[in-house]
Amino acid sequence: MNAYDNALRQLEKAAKLIKLDKEVVARLSAPEKVAMASLPVKMDDGSLQIFQGYRVQYNSARGPYKGGIRFHPQVDLDEVKALAFWMAIKCAVVDIPMGGGKGGVVVNPKSLSQSELEKLARTWIRSFRDIVGPEKDIPAPDVYTTGREMTQIMDTFSKLNGNKYSPGVITGKPISMGGSLARNVATGLGTAYTVREAAKTLKIKLKGAKVVLQGFGNASTFAGEYLEKMGAIVVGVSDSKGSILIPKGAKVSKILEHKAKTGSVIGFAGSKKVSTEDLLTAKCDILIPGALENQITAAIAKKLNCKIIGEAANGPTLPEADPVIEKKKILVVPDILANSGGVCISYLEWVQNNMGYYWSFDEVASKMEKNITQGFKDAYALSKKHKVDMRKATMVLAVERVMEAFNQKGIWP
Ligand code: NAD
Repeated sequence: MNAYDNALRQLEKAAKLIKLDKEVVARLSAPEKVAMASLPVKMDDGSLQIFQGYRVQYNSARGPYKGGIRFHPQVDLDEVKALAFWMAIKCAVVDIPMGGGKGGVVVNPKSLSQSELEKLARTWIRSFRDIVGPEKDIPAPDVYTTGREMTQIMDTFSKLNGNKYSPGVITGKPISMGGSLARNVATGLGTAYTVREAAKTLKIKLKGAKVVLQGFGNASTFAGEYLEKMGAIVVGVSDSKGSILIPKGAKVSKILEHKAKTGSVIGFAGSKKVSTEDLLTAKCDILIPGALENQITAAIAKKLNCKIIGEAANGPTLPEADPVIEKKKILVVPDILANSGGVCISYLEWVQNNMGYYWSFDEVASKMEKNITQGFKDAYALSKKHKVDMRKATMVLAVERVMEAFNQKGIWP
């Protein structure tokens, strides 16, 4: 089953649960618009290469499309459609007035020079500029695109529009180019906020709570650092080189220092190297899968020894593991909620760009905190109402919000 079929299967499950109108399901089962373009780039050696580019505009019931642009050799239309669908869902979960979109280019970015990458980014927006724009569709970075490409896209769009300065055409820009404070920590910080709400619900004190992080990159380290600030202790981490348990706990900053020196978390003082399975099933209060998809299988789920799972990564839990986890009464904050801090602050970047006035770190973080904690509370209330796990409840929350927009607007003409 490909990613898009899987997304539609989850939609069907939520639809069944709330007896969703067939017409709403039909409207959510296909993107509103799919755009494809051949992107010609003159390479450094003088040859011409044509890259396949996409922009999928999945749903705009709640506002302009929002979603990143991925540069990857395995990008295909179904993947972009699935990712665009999930963006519509995520925006609805945290109740930001935006819909879902996604873009991509089939390319191995590591094989391109910086100037070739720049030409590709500028050609992408030249080709899609009629459907992209601050009031229409606002892209952002995704796998292998960075603030640099976002700046180039903003610059090209502004120049092609008669030099109309348009920072709100894209988010994830560097601070100096109209980016938002707190964007770099947004995903991990959002995960920490949702885990804090889950702990409150289960009456678990964060002071002294033990945390295990799978992965030691952007999402997982900031989730760890902010949970640490809330009183928790990190007792296990991993990266692509392996996993460690640290019985006495350690500061994330110290493990980061060790990784910067040695290239890995392995060998950190006071730690012992363990298998991935031992890391995921270690005794702790909070498990943050923050690296890869498909990590928690049904077999691993049976051995889990935590009380809360905060899914910083996308899709870390296999569908067959969910019922096992539910039976064990572990509270899962699903990915579409736990890692939505990033899109929330992308939205706040766009708001700041549109008003031309910029907030402090604390102002941005507190606005995101309000949306994401409310998202948790609303999803939790639905999980109690429908007697379902948080993953289904969060999906129901999003679908109900999109349906509300459909109902308000009706169909025209
Ligand atoms: P990243 O590249 O910064 O970090 C990934 C980490 O995973 C690295 O520490 C790497 O060493 C580790 N890793 C790789 N292979 C591993 C393995 N086999 N076992 C254990 N660790 C391994 O990436 P990121 O931005 O932190 O993204 C991580 C996850 O979070 C992804 O699923 C991503 O889709 C999701 N996510 C990230 C953001 C964001 O804003 N960064 C937003 C939403 C979702």
